[in-house]
Amino acid sequence: MNVPNSQTIDPQDGDALIIVDVQNDFLPGGALAVNNGDEVVPALNVYIDLFLTKGLPIIATRDWHPVNHCSFREQGGPWPPHCIANGHGAQFAAGLRLPPDITIISKAALPDKDAYSGFQGTELEAVLRSHGVRRVFVGGLATDYCVLNTVKNALENSYQVYVLGDAIRAVNIHPDDGRKAEQEMIAKGAIMITAKDLA
Ligand SMILES: [Zn+2]
Repeated sequence: MNVPNSQTIDPQDGDALIIVDVQNDFLPGGALAVNNGDEVVPALNVYIDLFLTKGLPIIATRDWHPVNHCSFREQGGPWPPHCIANGHGAQFAAGLRLPPDITIISKAALPDKDAYSGFQGTELEAVLRSHGVRRVFVGGLATDYCVLNTVKNALENSYQVYVLGDAIRAVNIHPDDGRKAEQEMIAKGAIMITAKDLA
């Protein structure tokens, strides 16, 4: 269900860009590196520049964990320690051209709860509502976890969702996880686009 080539999408009032978890620990060399995760950085910069030029809201989510977070293996969780609040691994990728006035949504900041979705236990929904947002453009890391769950929650909250197909990468613990996540998002109503679909 890709957008036909003849049809372009013109970001306008009511649209917001949501950048999911583009943090050092999810990039090559990080504690929980996503294969080729760094490739989303230049891809997202294209969208950032466009939304900035149009004066549209840009929101970045981040994992922001305490040292004893429940998702860490020492606490019985599935992951190595990652994105410790205020640490280097939790910082946004250096090459990401985030504007100074960006809205940052921190998630899973308490020890006993994890959050793959940017909506889970955060003020994201309130922020979007305050900007009158109806359509969200979502990219970042990783396709099969935090992008997938953020997109699903956005759809459940009745937003129109565009997934930035050229600005997402998957963990792929099972080789097909990313592809299946894309199929699931599309089946639930998200539209897969790339930068060339935008006006
Ligand atoms: Zn995490």
